[in-house]
Amino acid sequence: TTTLPRTVRTAPAAPGAPRTTGGHLQIQGLHKSYGTLEVLHDVDLEVRPGEVTVVLGPSGSGKSTLLRLINHLERPDRGFVALDGEVIGYARRPSRRHGHVLRELTERDVLRQRTRIGFVFQNFHLFPHLTALENVVEAPVSAQGRRRSEVEAEARELLARVGLADKADARPRQLSGGQQQRVAIARALAVRPSLLLFDEPTSALDPELVGEVLAVIRDLAHGGTTLVVVTHEVAFARDVADTVVFMDAGRVVEQGPAAQVLSAPRHARTRAFLDKVR
Ligand code: ADP
Ligand code: MG
Repeated sequence: TTTLPRTVRTAPAAPGAPRTTGGHLQIQGLHKSYGTLEVLHDVDLEVRPGEVTVVLGPSGSGKSTLLRLINHLERPDRGFVALDGEVIGYARRPSRRHGHVLRELTERDVLRQRTRIGFVFQNFHLFPHLTALENVVEAPVSAQGRRRSEVEAEARELLARVGLADKADARPRQLSGGQQQRVAIARALAVRPSLLLFDEPTSALDPELVGEVLAVIRDLAHGGTTLVVVTHEVAFARDVADTVVFMDAGRVVEQGPAAQVLSAPRHARTRAFLDKVR
């Protein structure tokens, strides 16, 4: 067996330092249960920098839980998540299987590491009392300690990038769902994350608004941002994904190059699912 360091850690970036792209995500042997319900069973996944991974699977298969574990909103029972070589999982008991021995992370570790990951939710989760611009500015200032004036200039650029240059002063309730989700994407980008997670970003939208949000995600993909996208939009996956992961009942049933998994799935469960959503 290979000998790996006891813990794999990198130095935190200086406040305000520009982030390199990075975004190498490695997940090994991830398990998660709620009481007796096993929600994730032995999940392995690797996303290389600049790659787009689409996660497909029926409702209840553990997709959101997987994203929440990557972003420290939940903690695994076993296994780990590493981003750019830095282990960001927890272990209650040491896991020898992967050659790593993990320690408990402090709350500060978690907060610092979480800012390397952007999260876009199904229901936008914007702060309702803040304008679009203020929503985008909030995290870099409060969580990363960056200067407001500098962040504001960058936030305006980000709003322009998602096509909302003229909506900086609008509050969420004055915006359509598609516009709100585009603000949420600008907000996720504002922390200069090395990895962006999307949990069914278009599921709450009226059908005519889905395209504008997918177009923004597609631009990010082509721009080289590392993305993990949970979605039922198979056409989008075919178009944008490098890798497709199909989950069912807490397990990764199948993963591989998008064209292969979508056009010639190996497993009957993947085929049955694709037949249903297509
Ligand atoms: P998906 O996103 O694929 O629909 P989820 O990850 O949301 O699936 O849920 C997977 C399973 O875990 C479901 O059976 C769900 O009911 C259960 N689950 C999710 N979160 C919790 C929780 N906090 N407590 C108990 N069960 C949960
Ligand atoms: Mg979900």
